[in-house]
Amino acid sequence: NTNEALLEVNNIEVIYNHVILVLKGVSLCVPHRGITALLGGNGAGKTTTLKAISNLLKSERGEVTKGSIVYRGDRVQDLSPADLVRRGVIQVMEGRHCFEHLTVEENLMTGAYTRRDSKAEIRRDLDRVYTYFPRLKDRRKSQAGYTSGGEQQMTAIGRALMSRPETILLDEPSMGLAPQLVEQIFEIVKAVNEGEGVAFLLAEQNTNVALRYAHYGYILESGRVVMDGPAKDLRENPDVKEFYLGMS
Ligand code: ATP
Repeated sequence: NTNEALLEVNNIEVIYNHVILVLKGVSLCVPHRGITALLGGNGAGKTTTLKAISNLLKSERGEVTKGSIVYRGDRVQDLSPADLVRRGVIQVMEGRHCFEHLTVEENLMTGAYTRRDSKAEIRRDLDRVYTYFPRLKDRRKSQAGYTSGGEQQMTAIGRALMSRPETILLDEPSMGLAPQLVEQIFEIVKAVNEGEGVAFLLAEQNTNVALRYAHYGYILESGRVVMDGPAKDLRENPDVKEFYLGMS
């Protein structure tokens, strides 16, 4: 059933350092095989929302103090990030985060660490990743730290794909990339979504590009969802045009 929610975030509150209330009741829903955009300006709470879902807040002294996060009907907020990866949910962090001293291919291989299947199968997946990212195949022997920003973003997404995810939480894929590369990255997201059926929840400040590729969008402001709807409706909404698309 493609209409059923894969991931549900119900009214979560997040507090940093026991005092700073950053998410003030955020709810959202990621359907099977959908591309869902989480939009909003700097500091709106996009990264915090993704980290709450993938349980990466602890190292930042952050905590979900209210609400629930449900994946495939199970409450998952007490699982470790590695357990979530095993269930099919993986986050690609903002700023790409490659292992700079490893080659591109070694980086991709680290994405398979939670898997217990055969080397041959992992090899097949690696080849499949290269069909989405032909550029990475050319650069597979290069040290990741010496590849371009766009290539590092591709490596980070490719590495996530190596865990055979069902859902990818993608934080700010456009950050620091030239417009043409941003378009390329989103084309790949679309191809992976259609080809592998992977659902995406992507945090983006670039509302324009995100709403062209997403099916549905949520707009966050100061830790609250202020608007949500099908991407097409948001693109045509006068307030979204004025405040987020830079045209009225
Ligand atoms: P950006 O695009 O800058 O990442 P964002 O929408 O993802 O913005 P968050 O990074 O989630 O926003 O930050 C939301 C708010 O939480 C900001 O006011 C930020 O200063 C605050 N914040 C983030 N991390 C911490 C932390 N570890 N401790 C305290 N406050 C934090």
